[in-house]
Amino acid sequence: MPNRDTVFSRLNGRWHERALRAFMLIVLAHWAEHLVQAYQVYVLRWPMHQARGVLGQAFPWLVHSEVLHYGYALIMLAGIWALLPGFVGRSRAWWLAALVIQFWHHIEHALLQGQVIAGRTLFGSPVPTSIVQLWFPRLELHLFYNSVVFVPMMVAMYYHLFPSAPDAARMRCGCALHPHPATS
Ligand SMILES: [Zn+2]
Repeated sequence: MPNRDTVFSRLNGRWHERALRAFMLIVLAHWAEHLVQAYQVYVLRWPMHQARGVLGQAFPWLVHSEVLHYGYALIMLAGIWALLPGFVGRSRAWWLAALVIQFWHHIEHALLQGQVIAGRTLFGSPVPTSIVQLWFPRLELHLFYNSVVFVPMMVAMYYHLFPSAPDAARMRCGCALHPHPATS
């Protein structure tokens, strides 16, 4: 890729650290909301419709609006994709894994969103239903999706912050915290 000074190349060069920090904050907050919701259902035994995480207690429409779920899945996909070029070597493989999984997660949300727009549901279900939701309930499924995207992102971040010497030599951003390789 030519080293032109575009927003995109800056995002993966000198802005990578700041962009990643902001993005990870959003991702963490969203994942925490899913964890809180599971806690409300399994530990506090709240009825499903009332278990809306933290923000959703004040703003129920946040949880009950399909378009916001879809929008978030899309932002997440775009963010992982946009910040990918900054990752090299081992960290890139893990970040790419998160991208592939998020791509599928986003397809599931697109299906849900499509049912709202079309005004009819799939599989004869009374509510919008995604494919894997045929086998697993929505709360557990999306907790699972967010976790299997989150974990490879965390591993990628670890290798990005503590790169091996060959990986560090190829990095164009200032994210690495350690001048010495943590892994060989
Ligand atoms: Zn970086």
